[in-house]
Amino acid sequence: MALKVNLKLFLDEEGNSLDLTEQAKQVFKFISKIVLSISAHIDQPLINVDLKCNTRASGLDCDGEIAATCIATEVIEWHCDTCQAAGTISNWRGSLWDKQKRIIHEYSKYY
Ligand SMILES: [Zn+2]
Repeated sequence: MALKVNLKLFLDEEGNSLDLTEQAKQVFKFISKIVLSISAHIDQPLINVDLKCNTRASGLDCDGEIAATCIATEVIEWHCDTCQAAGTISNWRGSLWDKQKRIIHEYSKYY
């Protein structure tokens, strides 16, 4: 079963993360790390995220690695290289974890 995450649902109107349950926090940490890795290497077709499969929830014992790819402008798809775990992340662009935006922002500060 694919895990579909709309990043916006984790954030308030200012883009900060909401008060989350422990379980949601863990998923959010996992998701935000994928967004960080993807947006930092947006020109690469497939990113190996430095993330273990079992960090997305407690009680998992899969130690596979997560790979992710940007399948559409607003959608990141990720999957585990060992088990069937997979999912998508939408509405990540412009979030605090969008490195791309930060780079553009810093760039425009100097020029
Ligand atoms: Zn796995």
